[in-house]
Amino acid sequence: MKIGFIGLGIMGKPMAKNLLKAGYDLTVFDVVKANVDDVVAAGAKAGASAKDVAAVCDVVITMLPNSPHVKTVVCGAGGVLEGAKSGLILIDMSSIAPLASIEVEKACAEKGVKMIDAPVSGGEPKAIDGTLAIMAGGDRAVLESVKPILSQMGSSVVYCGEIGAGNTTKLANQIIVAVNIAAVAEAYTLAQKAGVDPALVFDAIKGGLAGSTVMNAKSPMMLDGNFKPGFKIDLHIKDLGNALDTGHGVGSPLPLTASVMEMMQTLRADGCGQDDHSALAKYYAKVSGTKIGK
Ligand code: NAD
Repeated sequence: MKIGFIGLGIMGKPMAKNLLKAGYDLTVFDVVKANVDDVVAAGAKAGASAKDVAAVCDVVITMLPNSPHVKTVVCGAGGVLEGAKSGLILIDMSSIAPLASIEVEKACAEKGVKMIDAPVSGGEPKAIDGTLAIMAGGDRAVLESVKPILSQMGSSVVYCGEIGAGNTTKLANQIIVAVNIAAVAEAYTLAQKAGVDPALVFDAIKGGLAGSTVMNAKSPMMLDGNFKPGFKIDLHIKDLGNALDTGHGVGSPLPLTASVMEMMQTLRADGCGQDDHSALAKYYAKVSGTKIGK
């Protein structure tokens, strides 16, 4: 089976390399040549365009920033649908708006291409380890047929429903992560201001109901003032924007998401868009005049 991989950034590069390690015949494309060269050095072939990749593959995986990129790469000039033969399976693993997944799937179906949306959670370390959590939407039988491929990149693959359901699930994930980080930053800022060491607060409460994977991962970063990404504020703004649009579209108000979105917008305006999302601590430092940690 020949696989195409388009979008070789922080996530796509290690995911593509895991497919090579598993022995798949891989053809790749990215607009950044250095990214292509890196994966070619690991054994992939280079395609000249998305169309070129699709023309020689049975399955094409996309791992791109957002909805407009996926629409362009799949439906645009020189895109996947121009090169694809009928029966090709497109696995879009990008985190995009669920409505965009539905739109792209419609265009695919007109060309006899089957599409599933299969965004991931876990970040670069799990992309490298091949232990991402994958949440998928689309035709269940199509998903089953590509599970051996997905299992090289993720340790869990959960079927969430029709096309777009994977991305709806990912939006739920991103809301919970964003609000949880903000709550941790808010609580530690209160402790700091009240004269209690936030490091001791973390130690005291991490085993109780307030504890979370977010708390364990982000507390050390906040306490050290280390905001090297990880997952960038700019990307989280993209996800919360998609969440707010989707919420407004289906009539589900998202007041907490909207609040954290404005905090992240403030940070972006302050030049922190490339910081890790744990930099929400900087927002609280700004409004309280008190920085977490020593
Ligand atoms: P990234 O910006 O590092 O990579 C995106 C890649 O797409 C880049 O190499 C870029 O050159 C390429 N690209 C953009 N437009 C293109 C086009 N028209 N044709 C070909 N290539 C194109 O982003 P990333 O961190 O790898 O994230 C990819 C997706 O995964 C995003 O939707 C993101 O939200 C999601 N995600 C990221 C993480 C993370 O921790 N970074 C975790 C989970 C999910």
